[in-house]
Parts: sequence; structure tokens; C-alpha cells
Amino acid sequence: MTLPLSWIQEEIENLRASGLYNSIRTLSSPQGAWLIVDGKKVLNFCSNNYLGLANHPKVVQAAQLAMEKYGVGPAAVRTIAGTMDLHVELERRLAAFKGVEAVITFQSGFNANLATIPALVGKEDVIFSDELNHASIIDGCRLSGAKIVRYSHCDPQDLQRALAEERRNYRRALVVTDGVFSMDGDIAPLDQIYEITKNHKAILMVDDAHGEGVLGRGGRGIVDHYDLHGKVDIEVGTLSKAFGVVGGVVAGNSLVVEWLRQRGRPFLFSSAMTVPDTAACLASLEILENSTELVDRLWENTQYFKAEMRRAGFDLGRSVTPITPVMLGDASLAQEFSRHLFEEGVFAMAIGYPTVPRGKARIRVMISATHQKEDLERGMEIFARVGKRLGVI
Ligand SMILES: *Cc1c(COP(=O)(O)O)cnc(C)c1O
Repeated sequence: MTLPLSWIQEEIENLRASGLYNSIRTLSSPQGAWLIVDGKKVLNFCSNNYLGLANHPKVVQAAQLAMEKYGVGPAAVRTIAGTMDLHVELERRLAAFKGVEAVITFQSGFNANLATIPALVGKEDVIFSDELNHASIIDGCRLSGAKIVRYSHCDPQDLQRALAEERRNYRRALVVTDGVFSMDGDIAPLDQIYEITKNHKAILMVDDAHGEGVLGRGGRGIVDHYDLHGKVDIEVGTLSKAFGVVGGVVAGNSLVVEWLRQRGRPFLFSSAMTVPDTAACLASLEILENSTELVDRLWENTQYFKAEMRRAGFDLGRSVTPITPVMLGDASLAQEFSRHLFEEGVFAMAIGYPTVPRGKARIRVMISATHQKEDLERGMEIFARVGKRLGVI
């Protein structure tokens, strides 16, 4: 049998055999500390809903009210007739919140990277990219046609070496890094990266998807965390994680934002965020503008959970953020661990290759401000029980 697509069946069987097949669970409840998944009530250790805004009453209400006034869809790409005053207000308020010159929004963080990188560099240029950068950065780099030089993960010395060797052979240079690395929960040394980048006259871009609403004063992000205001050219963010909705953000230099309105392909050729998305993001932003309570609670929960998990004997890798990888190594073990957790009422997914390197499979626990202390205690109890049963601790 040589049907043109039969290779897919073989590939899928290989994935299953090596514990790398993605099984997707279906939720029938809102995102919160507890979920209904496949008909079962489970503790949520999976979502990027860091602050609980995905189901916050004020956010839901803002979306409802906006739909009464504006309807649902933007009905066109933004340059034609798809920009509403809601989009403009969101961009203006985000810029003020983050303390930057200007902001432009996209349909997603993934699109923000696909828009930005090819708009800044092309075939005559070079990109220096952290080896563990997010897939959307990698794809944006490839789309640009620029030469891509990978430097060792979070290693300013290696970046310095690569710039010294390669920079002079190209017209423009871009240094790009994740802010918070989504699989390990470590933070890029952006202060050192900034100094090196400046010395080599390169553009600096950071993708702060997991830092937006998490790092910095009241969740203002990684640039605020390092107090690098005005020094980082481009800060990409997402509205789908801590903000609890959906959407992408590019914040920073006003020339870059103006250029993206002219040359960002997902901006020019794909319709804008919908009305309820945009209004909900504005409501999330207002909650962050008014109080640091949720961000503070997120960090308290994080500190507590991680200290207790380490005490129980789990290896949490190099995380310094609410992203808590429980390192297991073998992909099949990670899947089995996740299955046992689910049976005991904890929803935490196994993550393996290609999302993380081979042999570095893990369960990734996402802590949120919505978890009560009892929820975290219960989760840890079950982790310890399964860990002992499977010989991990
Ligand atoms: C999640 C993530 C994205 C994608 O964001 P979406 O808004 O969900 O498309 C981009 N970059 C990084 C580093 C991320 O973690």
C-alpha cells in the first residue's frame, strides 16, 4: 500500500511507541483552580492563566458590554476597516502601563513574532537567537531569510563571542531571546544581553510572553523587572497567558511600532482581535493597573509550592518563576506520571520532545493566583504519592 499519505500512520505509531503522542484533554468548565476534564473534577496545574483573569467576572462583563455596543467581529484587517476605538485604547493604555513609547497589538503572541522579525531583518542581515527560544521566534527568524546564529542558552559570554565573530559580515543584526523560558521557568539575563547588544550595534528584542503580568512591578514585565526602560527596542508579549484572553503585543520604540503598521504581515493580512477579546484585555489591564494583589498572590503561591516540592525531593530544574518543571527525563515515565496524577485528580501534562530536548521530559506545573493553600497542599500530597509509587523520589 503506497497511498501518498500512508507515511503519516507510521509516524503516528512511532510517536505513540516513544511516549511522544499528544493526547488532548477536553475541558467542560471555565479555567480556574479546578476544572471538569473528560467529565472528572481535577486540580488545574496546566494553564497559563497565572492571575485567574480568564474567568474573572469583571473581564467577562466587559466582553459582554462591548459586544452589545460593537457586535463581535472586526470584519476586516486593521488597515482596511478593522481598527475600532477599542483597539486604539488598548494599545494606548498598554503603552502607558508598560512605560514605553508605543504598542501595537496582534491576534496572538505567535503572530507578533512572525510579524516583527521579518519586518526588521532580511537576507543581508543576521539574527543571534538563544538556542531554547520559543517556536514562534524560530519560525519568525526563518521567515525573515536572515542568517541565524544560535548562542548557548542564557549565556552572555557565548552571545558576545558570536557577535564578535559574525556581526561585521552583515548589514543589520538582531539579538532575540525569550524573557522567561516557558519549559524551564528561568529568566534571560537581559541586563547583560543589553550591554553586549548595544556594544555591537544590534537591535534587541525580548519575547516576554510568560513575564507579562508576572514579572516586574505589578506584572509590568521583564523590562521593568531589570529596570531597562527605554533600552530594549522591542518587547513582545501575549494577552493569552496572565491577561487571560488572547492577543499579541509589541511594545517599545515608536518607530518600530509605526513600521509594523506598514510592514507586519499578520497585521496587514489577517483580521484584528475580536471585540470581546479586546474589551476583555482592557478589563484585565485595568485590574493590573489598580492593584498588585493578584501578582503578589501568584508569587506567594509559587514560593510556597516550590519550596515544599523541593523538600519532598523533586528536581525542579532551574526555574525561578511560577513555571515549575518536575524533571523526570524519560518521556514514557513522564506520560505515565501524568496519567497517575490524573487518576488521583491532578491535571498536569507531560512534556517531551520536540517541545523539550530528548531525555529531558517533565511534568510542567503551572502555579496560579487562583490556587488556595489547600489546593497546593492537596496537589503536593498527590505528587508525592505518585512520585514514590513510580520510584522518582
Ligand atoms: C506562549 C508563547 C507565545 C505564543 O503566544 P500566543 O499568544 O499564545 O500565540 C510566544 N512566545 C512565547 C515565548 C510563548 O511562551
